[in-house]
Amino acid sequence: MASTKYIFVTGGVTSSLGKGIVSASLATLLQSRGYSVTIQKLDPYINIDPGTLNPYEHGECYVTNDGAETDLDLGHYERFLNRPTSQANNVTTGRIYQSVIDKERRGDFLGKTVQVIPHITDEIKRRIMLLGNTGEFEIVITEIGGTVGDIEALPYIETVRQLKWELGDDCLVIHLTLVPFLAVTGELKTKPTQHSVKSLQESGVQPDILVCRSEKPIGEEIKRKLALFCNVKKEAVIESTDAETIYAVPILLRNQRLDEVVLKKFSLPIEDNLDLVNWKDFLYKLKYPKTEVTVGLIGKYIELHDSYKSIVESFIHAGAANECKVNIKWIHSENLATESTHKYMEGLDGVLVAPGFGERGFEGKLEAIRYARENNIPFFGICLGMQAAVIEYGRNVLKWEDANSTEMDPDTKHPVISLMETQKKVKKKGGTMRLGACDCTLKEGSQAYNAYRRKEISERHRHRFEFNNEYLEDFEKAGMIATGKNPDLGLVEIMELPSHPWFVGVQFHPEYKSTVANPHPLFVKFIEATIKASKEQA
Ligand code: GLN
Repeated sequence: MASTKYIFVTGGVTSSLGKGIVSASLATLLQSRGYSVTIQKLDPYINIDPGTLNPYEHGECYVTNDGAETDLDLGHYERFLNRPTSQANNVTTGRIYQSVIDKERRGDFLGKTVQVIPHITDEIKRRIMLLGNTGEFEIVITEIGGTVGDIEALPYIETVRQLKWELGDDCLVIHLTLVPFLAVTGELKTKPTQHSVKSLQESGVQPDILVCRSEKPIGEEIKRKLALFCNVKKEAVIESTDAETIYAVPILLRNQRLDEVVLKKFSLPIEDNLDLVNWKDFLYKLKYPKTEVTVGLIGKYIELHDSYKSIVESFIHAGAANECKVNIKWIHSENLATESTHKYMEGLDGVLVAPGFGERGFEGKLEAIRYARENNIPFFGICLGMQAAVIEYGRNVLKWEDANSTEMDPDTKHPVISLMETQKKVKKKGGTMRLGACDCTLKEGSQAYNAYRRKEISERHRHRFEFNNEYLEDFEKAGMIATGKNPDLGLVEIMELPSHPWFVGVQFHPEYKSTVANPHPLFVKFIEATIKASKEQA
């Protein structure tokens, strides 16, 4: 195999321009030409991983098969490429420093002074090359978090400078920047981009390609101007206007031949083999749905929709699979605890209770579940959502008023959800939950089996508490059935109500595995059930 090619994606002017989507879109185009591609995110913050961060900080914490707690951009990478990522795909400054400091304590530096250059930059380099060195990938795209000019990003930009020098033609840099539109004068402005490219150049990095985010098409004249001021070819100035859906971005970039510009830079052949048939079919279904449903998403971080990124995207995939537009009604679970549940829930075709931690808003989640259960509204509970469904059933059907999780009430007489045995001795918070892929065996004839159509599945986890098996017999006698169990430990993975049109709670996180090419079967079936419910309501 020829040497691995490395693409770096940096950002300028402001954050939130969508480096993750641009990286995933370019990767999609290259993959659609037959290349094996992966994407990595380097995050400049000091946390070892985002696992201990509140979702209000950076949105959802995404989890990989190997149990890494990562930035939500890895979710985009998997959803676009339909290929799993791993711990190696997300590295933070905290992790880099931790490795270097561990080496220093072991005495590996043989008495030398340990410095940002070369020791930190060498460690960053090692982490970047790790993916290329697996031999699995022809192209590695590395997204550098933050914005050029940030103090935190400096060691990363310096590493890009060194690698550009070392790798020569096997390396290129894409700079994603903003071309703002000034409504007062009716003009698009190039100066912020010029400045941010200058700032990159001051660090010794010359970008090869500019991707310009803009509200409006930037046009040939501005492309020519940016090319002139920034030392890039005009064909390498690519506009990226606001898209209707993130899934349209690969097509927008393809229309300007970004994939060809990249292949040309790498001296790779440009063949007539780009296959976007399935992708375009998905976009078509998204754009022209035949029906519409409204699903209530119950959570406590709903002010920041990014906290539930993978769930929202899973709805988009499952919606397209059902040729149905899924509207989300965001419902704050704290409101349900205090005001009338009916007011919020009336007219919903389905209810999803989201994952979460801690007491805030928990009672409201129970209210939402009671409403969905009693009114035969399709219900999908994920992780804490499943635990809440068990508690609600324990309280309102089994009539154990104090049924609870020991997470919320350590002294309850009915701990129907309790701490896993393996968690009891855990003291440190970071990276110590039950994380990543675990096996689950399904009961034939269940809703879950009906969705997956096989007995053995594997799904990703992120939790400390579990269904307390001491109560299983009581629950099953009362009509709530365990339809999925971990074959090694007997942990309950799925609870269902066979007497209800569609009521499924899962201890795992199906949303992490839904992709454009493979919409998650549970989401697909849940949406199917909501369509049925909405027709019956009509
Ligand atoms: N707080 C619950 C637990 O730790 C659920 C976690 C989650 O929803 N991801 O078990």
